[in-house]
Amino acid sequence: MLGLMQDQPLLISSLIEFAERHHGDAEIVSRRAEGDIHRTTWREVAVRSRQVANALEAEQLLFSDRIATLAWNGYRHLELYYGVSGSGKVLHTINPRLHPDQIAWIANHAEDQILCFDLNFLPLVQAVHAKCGTIKKYVALCDADKLPVDSGIPNLVSYESWMGSRPGTYAWPTFDENSASSMCYTSGTTGNPKAALYSHRSTILHAYAAALPDVMALSARDSVLPVVPMFHVNAWGIPYSAALTGAKLVFPGPALDGKSVFELIEAEKVSFAAGVPTVWQMMLGHMQANGLKFSTLKRTVIGGSACPPAMINAFQQLYGVDVLHAWGMTEMSPLGTLCTLKNKHLSLPSEAQTAIRMKQGRAIFGVDMKIVDGDGNELPWDGKAYGDLLVKGPWIVKEYFKGEGGDPLLPDAEGRGWFPTGDVATIDADGFLQITDRSKDVIKSGGEWISSIDIENIAMAHPAVAMAACVGVAHPKWDERPIVVVVKKPNGEVSREELLAFYQGKTAKWQIPDDVVFVEAIPLGATGKILKTRLREQLRGYQLPQSA
Ligand code: AMP
Repeated sequence: MLGLMQDQPLLISSLIEFAERHHGDAEIVSRRAEGDIHRTTWREVAVRSRQVANALEAEQLLFSDRIATLAWNGYRHLELYYGVSGSGKVLHTINPRLHPDQIAWIANHAEDQILCFDLNFLPLVQAVHAKCGTIKKYVALCDADKLPVDSGIPNLVSYESWMGSRPGTYAWPTFDENSASSMCYTSGTTGNPKAALYSHRSTILHAYAAALPDVMALSARDSVLPVVPMFHVNAWGIPYSAALTGAKLVFPGPALDGKSVFELIEAEKVSFAAGVPTVWQMMLGHMQANGLKFSTLKRTVIGGSACPPAMINAFQQLYGVDVLHAWGMTEMSPLGTLCTLKNKHLSLPSEAQTAIRMKQGRAIFGVDMKIVDGDGNELPWDGKAYGDLLVKGPWIVKEYFKGEGGDPLLPDAEGRGWFPTGDVATIDADGFLQITDRSKDVIKSGGEWISSIDIENIAMAHPAVAMAACVGVAHPKWDERPIVVVVKKPNGEVSREELLAFYQGKTAKWQIPDDVVFVEAIPLGATGKILKTRLREQLRGYQLPQSA
């Protein structure tokens, strides 16, 4: 017997309809590439999303055709999120920090039909358009009078002239909720990138889950600043969860330096912000140097790479801001776990609570996870056993776009597939996940594993250290030994010996790095993560000290 509830597909268009009807006057504030602040509302975004949908109808595209963006976080990008997916096309957000050849490669692989881009990326589009064979139209996200002349880009129009004259009425179509809605290519440090292809259903379920109290706790009382880019995994789903809750949205545009982000938080009374550790590092540096305090920020979700404990402490103790440490990946839409305490933890002393907050947190309903040994046997949840982390759930990929890389899933006893995350982790008895490493970054020393994240976190707690990366170096006796590569703060002073002494008592003796290498900068990838492959290349020829 089937239930007798209405059969209504979960579609992204329902989010913008809801936001328009129930939260029409909630604000969407954007710092534009031009530097000025633009203000609009969910109501206007809804109207303009329908104008975008009408503009797309006029292009005679097919259902599921891909529309690409090269854009910062801003209201026009938000309109494309809804106009493109809502009308049955697929929004392909491209990471502008990728190499131009890689951008052309993925535009061709995705068979993008239209590319919408912020004017800051004009030189990039000029460099790649000749190689992007499938793109028929280029839309510059600007007013008609700002459209560059003699750009050399064929079929170039301004966004405002393209969609501006179209009607603001449009009946969002109804279709299968499993239809593709958006796509994002993985960072692809090795080989060609592969695309996660999200569906309407996966996006809506993820949006519900992200808003839950033990996840981002979003509400109509929040002013939300996604510093995490809309070109990477849909800004962690915030553009959707904000519509679902009626939150105010604040977009930083291209200005991601500490001063600009801090000023925007203060000016727009931001209560909740989301970003990767490197962005917050810049902002905390700016605040500390200028003796600044937050007046409205209450919570910040930090993920994408391990959040150093020193950063969690700084937010918590210096500024009274709750850090929600999160873990996820492109293939997971991206949220997998988020760290919030349980009721029984509330009576623990603050150090014990802090120790829990350092972990990546508990699985969100919808994400099933387990850790396994090399033979695929499940390992205990005791906070000590570490193994390969596997996940499954309705917002986790089952395969990549166009079947690239074959079937990624591993079967279990019931024949259902688990997605191998490539991360190594422990899970404790309360279900709190702790990421030890990427499996390829873990350091194997004398048959034991050393977590590069642990070694980096200790260095990051030193007041003179701005950034630290730990890598393994081949060793004749121990197989590999860790060294730590360090960027000092502008006025930071610390010697190799002082930093090694700083490790004493903070980790087992045999895990203390054998050397410290000071550098001007550590290579970061397109999503702000440390590029260990490139770092290892830079260290080629490096010799461990004789004593090691
Ligand atoms: P991406 O798909 O580019 O977002 O990268 C996903 C990967 O980033 C994960 O598989 C982890 O290796 C890493 N990652 C994400 N969040 C965290 C976190 N909080 N701590 C440690 N690693 C993380």
